[in-house]
Amino acid sequence: MSTTDAVPFDPQAIRADFPILATVVHGDKPLVYFDNAATTQRPRQVISSLVEAYEQHYANVHRGIHWLSEQSTDLYEEAREAVRRFIHARTQQEVVFTTGATAAINLVARSWGDQQVGAGDEIVLTEMEHHSNIVPWQQLAERTGCTLRFVPITDDGFLILEALDDLLNERTRLVAVTAVSNVLGTVNPVAQIVSRAHAAGARVLVDAAQSVPHAATDVQAWGADFVAFSGHKMLGPSGVGVLYGREELLEAMPPFLGGGSMIRRVTLEGFEPADLPAKFEAGTPPIVPALGLAAAIKYLEQIGMDAIRRHEMQLTARAHEVLEALDGVRLLGPAPEHKAGITSFVVQGIHAHDIAQIMDQHGVAIRAGHHCTMPLHKRLGVAASSRASYYFYNTLEEIDQLGIALRDAQRIFRRGQRRNDG
Ligand code: PLP
Repeated sequence: MSTTDAVPFDPQAIRADFPILATVVHGDKPLVYFDNAATTQRPRQVISSLVEAYEQHYANVHRGIHWLSEQSTDLYEEAREAVRRFIHARTQQEVVFTTGATAAINLVARSWGDQQVGAGDEIVLTEMEHHSNIVPWQQLAERTGCTLRFVPITDDGFLILEALDDLLNERTRLVAVTAVSNVLGTVNPVAQIVSRAHAAGARVLVDAAQSVPHAATDVQAWGADFVAFSGHKMLGPSGVGVLYGREELLEAMPPFLGGGSMIRRVTLEGFEPADLPAKFEAGTPPIVPALGLAAAIKYLEQIGMDAIRRHEMQLTARAHEVLEALDGVRLLGPAPEHKAGITSFVVQGIHAHDIAQIMDQHGVAIRAGHHCTMPLHKRLGVAASSRASYYFYNTLEEIDQLGIALRDAQRIFRRGQRRNDG
């Protein structure tokens, strides 16, 4: 995708496109939406693309020989082309629409995994993976008898790449790694990991759920074999996601789900699968969500992915400044220059859920808990953390609100503590 910024970056003008960001909560508190790693908000342009699709273009795709179905099919395939361009895939055949990153990873585990992985083989994951990039491989291990190995992390949230080299061997079939940790915010060196894994003869799946929405993506420069991400984390609707796979790999893989659309021919004796990418899109696909994702991509391209990355780095740097100024706050993960727009933290003496609740009273929406990374939290020695995660429509002033709300949480708890002690 283009690395030049199309229009000057102006967060206030951008915010005007997002009706929900004008929400006032608890009577008089402007909403500060810092739960973007869970899901982002949508601009009017995306919302109206959904309405327009249902009002003017909606029919099932690839099926009808009628005008409306042809129009709907054309738009659906144009959405695929928009995704191809956005992630710089070579062909449209390499872009499979799924219902999300989780479905995309499961597709690979079921189709490629069941075909290519056997007892005694090894799959390398990391300690910082989301459950979506752990459990499908644990299920594959249950089915096949393969072994899972984990690249450890440093205390400040970097992958220990020397350990990856030690783990790679002739039995390693796959390395499955997140491009950006959804808790630590760490931006991992994907191209380097891919080249080390490939040198050992392993395939690589990149969980790009937290990276594609926030920075320019070039799947060919990564050299990855599979890449998974979700539409709802990048301004798109929920219910649509993408599996990118290198064409020769997808060609050789059996279909995962069976049904309509994924076949060329069916007899009572058996079936012949359709060509790519239809082979992996059984049943009626997420038609309108895919059109919404295309509208989201258009919007992101107009803002410019480099401008988005730059702004989010500023937000993260300010969040570190604000949080580090408070006593008893432990920030998880590396220094801000190594992070995406995610700051997770633990506050001495206050449970993450209580922090989130007091933040909410200030209108600040953050997430508390394990964020679908229980093994990572165990490694960090904490049961739960609070997570503030940003997108390009957030402002530096909102980060200051985060600090004010957290200071208030500490004040309330210290007062309670003194009362208990007294
Ligand atoms: N991988 C990472 C790193 C994530 O942060 C998430 C969602 O939080 C997922 C995978 C799963 O995405 P989805 O729930 O959209 O399938």
